[in-house]
Amino acid sequence: MIVFVVNCGSSSIKYQLIDMTDEHVMAKGLIERIGMEGSNLKHSGGDKEPVRLEQPIPDHKAGINMILDALVHPEYGVIKEMGDIDAVGHRVVHGGERFTDSMLITSDVLAGIKACCDIAPLHNPPNLNGIEACMEIMSGTPQVAVFDTAFHQTMPKVAYLYGLPYELYVKYGLRRYGFHGTSHKYVAQRAAELMGERMSDLRIITCHLGNGASITAIKYGKSVDTSMGYTPLEGLIMGTRSGEIDPAIIPFLMEKEGMDAQQIYDYLNRQSGILGISGLSSDFRDLEEAANNGDERAQLAIDVFAYKVKKYIGSYVAAMGGLDAIVFTAGLGENSPFMRDKICNGLEYLGTRIDQLANKTRGKEREISVKRARVKIFVIPTNEELVIARDTYNICRRIIKL
Ligand code: ADP
Repeated sequence: MIVFVVNCGSSSIKYQLIDMTDEHVMAKGLIERIGMEGSNLKHSGGDKEPVRLEQPIPDHKAGINMILDALVHPEYGVIKEMGDIDAVGHRVVHGGERFTDSMLITSDVLAGIKACCDIAPLHNPPNLNGIEACMEIMSGTPQVAVFDTAFHQTMPKVAYLYGLPYELYVKYGLRRYGFHGTSHKYVAQRAAELMGERMSDLRIITCHLGNGASITAIKYGKSVDTSMGYTPLEGLIMGTRSGEIDPAIIPFLMEKEGMDAQQIYDYLNRQSGILGISGLSSDFRDLEEAANNGDERAQLAIDVFAYKVKKYIGSYVAAMGGLDAIVFTAGLGENSPFMRDKICNGLEYLGTRIDQLANKTRGKEREISVKRARVKIFVIPTNEELVIARDTYNICRRIIKL
């Protein structure tokens, strides 16, 4: 079965074409600047020379058409015709409380995803655009929605309720949902495999540390708490997001800085986090370099970030009543020995001990704790596209005759 994995942002589309017989990536690429000047497609098909095509791409439908043209192109394409694609898997950010697993997209499911636009006005509409474009262009090809929130739907009420009047939860669904679910699930499953154990026997903390960062407590196979909340703004300090702050700061800023609600939302999402603290960059590579050259605020941003992750690890050990493994993933988690060491330094009382030599690894799957450590530490590159393709395959193989 050939699965087309689609991840639509507001002005971008990331995609992969995956052959599920051996899970190999036949082609992948990225469209950027949809609806803007300079819109373009970067496409690479197997071992063929990658191409960059620049042309006006007014909307997601035009983007999907352009990708499909590239996939069947005689020179840089990898399939003969669109009909070679057996199923499409879509990343959908918010599934609310309704979607606890990946779903075949029917008119009912589509209506459910639309209903979630209310609680995710920034994230779900672009996902919907992608789904509707594919349904129109590839009518007859089954489409599956894979939700970022679904894995976290096992959280108990004590973990997801905010200290707000209960009616707000009932009326608006105001609660913690959590995100990066496919990533947390994938790396936890891999950690269990590497340990030769079942996930249902383990307590694992997964640290997804990229531009967006979240951390999850996975107790005996289920997400029981996670740091992102109603939106991806809550929890850890991130590249440009503040993470958790005292909510009283919001009316304070409104008054003192004359900001309205939208300006504060942008400020907390785009100008805060490690960018805000350092005044320099949202990229940890820049901060590590600047800190090495004596920049105090870059060092401070690094310190605050590491402290926050460490504090979450401690609280999730308490939430789960113990710990068997910690997993680091995403851009920073996979690539920064320095940050992993800084986070784990001082957690030895939990039974962790980092192996300095193994910790030098970058972007590769590896156990980085010393051999006899009671709690294992792993670096596991995330692969959200593969999880989407696998879920799509598992749902569609029941309905497609190959
Ligand atoms: P996104 O959340 O956008 O998917 P990624 O998972 O790609 O983000 O992570 C991007 C971030 O990872 C960068 O902003 C950078 O801070 C960090 N990063 C990537 N490579 C390195 C590295 N070699 N050293 C330190 N940080 C890195």
